[in-house]
Amino acid sequence: MAASPETFSAPHFDVTLARHGLSPLRRESPRTIQVNVGKLCNQACHHCHVDAGPRRTEIMTRATAEHVIEILAASPGVTTIDITGGAPELNPNFAMLVERARALGRIVIIRCNLTVTLEPRMEWLVDFYRRSRVELICSLPCYTAENVDQQRGSGVFEKSIVAMRQLNAAGFGRGELRLDLVYNPIGASLPPPQAELENRYRAELASNFDITFDHLLTITNMPIARFAHQLATTGDQARYMSLLVNHFNPATVDALMCRSLVSIGWDGQLYDCDFNQMLEIPLGGANRTIWNIDDVAEFTGDRIATASHCFGCTAGAGSSCTGAIT
Ligand code: SF4
Ligand code: SF4
Repeated sequence: MAASPETFSAPHFDVTLARHGLSPLRRESPRTIQVNVGKLCNQACHHCHVDAGPRRTEIMTRATAEHVIEILAASPGVTTIDITGGAPELNPNFAMLVERARALGRIVIIRCNLTVTLEPRMEWLVDFYRRSRVELICSLPCYTAENVDQQRGSGVFEKSIVAMRQLNAAGFGRGELRLDLVYNPIGASLPPPQAELENRYRAELASNFDITFDHLLTITNMPIARFAHQLATTGDQARYMSLLVNHFNPATVDALMCRSLVSIGWDGQLYDCDFNQMLEIPLGGANRTIWNIDDVAEFTGDRIATASHCFGCTAGAGSSCTGAIT
């Protein structure tokens, strides 16, 4: 039976895992390093779990970015570096990070908000993506202007369409270079089934704008930072948490993204995932930085720090940086 929104208080995530014989949550050998290069962004979206925006000043320095590359070079089990922010492209060390990671033979994923490609002095960006053969994961929470502008700001949809046309023209999402899109719900609900929504996006974007892409990734809004504030403002916080808890799906736990990645903050601090990073819950609950480690494989088998927001990753079909889990 669903808990009453007025009285609902989330159980500890680990207790729920234990009830299903899945506790404690431990890391496998890390295959991905996710780097958050800072909170600076050209947008300030309502749901942003990073609290990013144009006035944020937290940004990864050159020395830290160079050390990230040294850790990557010393971690042979890591196949992929996933660069996020903020808008990671606005960090002055962005191109260096991408070029050196590619020179090491790693897959480079960029989490791109699309509109950054149209910012002043960013004309080089699309061609740089193409030459570097990065994989792009781009936010587009709907195929209609109304919904996108409601969540991401006025005029964002129109700019996103211009940016996607540029990317298609450069070979992204046309079978040559990878372009995935990200959907997240506008409000306090779980994402619809990923495959069905992908078909809808494909049809709408093709017929209205002649735009193509590879895959749609559906991501659940995490009840932290700006989205938590929005939930508190609308009085939906308890209802949303009970929705997440009541839809706990044990089949998602094996493939939770924290089990195969290590997350690095803009200041070199280590975390179990980007969400824990925003809540300042350090990796495994202990303070560690990139200056204390060699190969990230040393975290294999370690316990992952969890809290009630983790129900956002295990609700329904599950949610990760690569979309639905099941
Ligand atoms: S959701 Fe993405 S594009 Fe929007 S403010 Fe946050 S980092 Fe920027
Ligand atoms: S919030 Fe982070 S630590 Fe918690 S389940 Fe999701 S990925 Fe794992």
